[in-house]
Amino acid sequence: MPVFYTGICAGASQIPLMAKLILKEFTSCPLSRKRSGMGIIMKYRTDRNGNRISQLGYGCMRFSRKGSSIDYEKAEREVLLAIEKGVNYFDTAYVYPGSEECLGRILDQNHCRDKVYIATKLPQYIIRSAAAVDKTFREELTRLRTDHIDYYLMHMFTDHAEWERLKSFGIEEWIRQRKEEGSIRSIGFSYHGDTEMFLKILNAYDWDFCQIQYNYLDEHTQAGKRGLQAAAQKGIPVIIMEPLRGGKLVNLPDKAKEALALDSHGYTPAELGLRWLWNQPEVTCVLSGMNSTEMVEENIRIASEAGPGCLTAEDMEIVEQIKKIIREREKVGCTGCRYCMPCPKGVDIPGNFYYYNLMYMEKKSSARFEFAQNMGMRKEPGFASQCVQCGKCEQHCPQHIPIREKLKEADRELRPLPYKAGINAARKFILK
Ligand code: SF4
Ligand code: SF4
Repeated sequence: MPVFYTGICAGASQIPLMAKLILKEFTSCPLSRKRSGMGIIMKYRTDRNGNRISQLGYGCMRFSRKGSSIDYEKAEREVLLAIEKGVNYFDTAYVYPGSEECLGRILDQNHCRDKVYIATKLPQYIIRSAAAVDKTFREELTRLRTDHIDYYLMHMFTDHAEWERLKSFGIEEWIRQRKEEGSIRSIGFSYHGDTEMFLKILNAYDWDFCQIQYNYLDEHTQAGKRGLQAAAQKGIPVIIMEPLRGGKLVNLPDKAKEALALDSHGYTPAELGLRWLWNQPEVTCVLSGMNSTEMVEENIRIASEAGPGCLTAEDMEIVEQIKKIIREREKVGCTGCRYCMPCPKGVDIPGNFYYYNLMYMEKKSSARFEFAQNMGMRKEPGFASQCVQCGKCEQHCPQHIPIREKLKEADRELRPLPYKAGINAARKFILK
């Protein structure tokens, strides 16, 4: 059964033939139309089971934190605003600290469980038995205060062997039973390997949906456009994660900002990145890790306007220019996903890479200053020099970054001798 796109856009004549074949109808939730602001009407795309999924989904990995826990009141405001405006797909995972509990509590206390779809994930990489699968799943139901998961994913496949391992202790029968009892409605997987392996996993089971990292920088990496289109051809809905590559497509280098400023539509970097995705009818839902009400409002506005054909040739040309500029400058392709964390020695791996890249996206001196101020003055600074080369982190990095080698580079550049001495002196003074 095909994945139906249920949106409409002025530029639909530019949509390729296959896309037109799966372009079905425009629908919008009557509830969201009634409640949402002027002209803001959420668009929905229908999955193979007939569920209407908002084309903007809520990524619950990046809820704001207060100290070591999630800022519940803030997350609640943001989630409820999103629901009110028609967002109905919420993505979390067993391993996102506090996220399942927070989402479950928000939905339960505000009586809106039945208004949304919950997507959560089995941490398959730590599962070693059928009993562990069931125990983890039951724990997730408890955390989420629900009796069913609408979209359940095998978390972070990178290799077909992982699926084979799960099969060896009866995961297929377990899924069949959960579907029969209604505690799992749709089954899928999230993916971070290469395209060939994605296709192999895609064809290895009758999946209801899948989730891939996809954005204009990753058009030809990971599952990539080939993977996206192959899934759509099979009628498998595709949920998009890392749509703005962990903020990299928001905080563009100055030269890229200048290129974007020439675009006659006046898009912000985030809007261009999101439109690039919704321009493709094979995309079912784009997850955004929203952690401010402004971000929720802005993403909903963009989602209400964007759809296949919404980017012009001029916009596409600007995207190509920006890609070229970013690629020239980036030192490490880190998305900030934090799958490599925690490091047993306390190294803040994504933090080091963020500031290392920032040195090449912006001015070296200001990036070093920010690094010194934000990371260098923490009680536990997480410097790359704390690394003991154990290699644990590299086993979990979906981008396959040679983390140990890149950390050495980052440390050399972020903390050359005079900076290191300065940071140490400042630490003694400030943290005494
Ligand atoms: S290799 Fe280094 S950064 Fe990675 S987990 Fe080990 S100590 Fe931490
Ligand atoms: S190094 Fe890899 S795993 Fe760690 S945050 Fe970056 S992309 Fe994610």
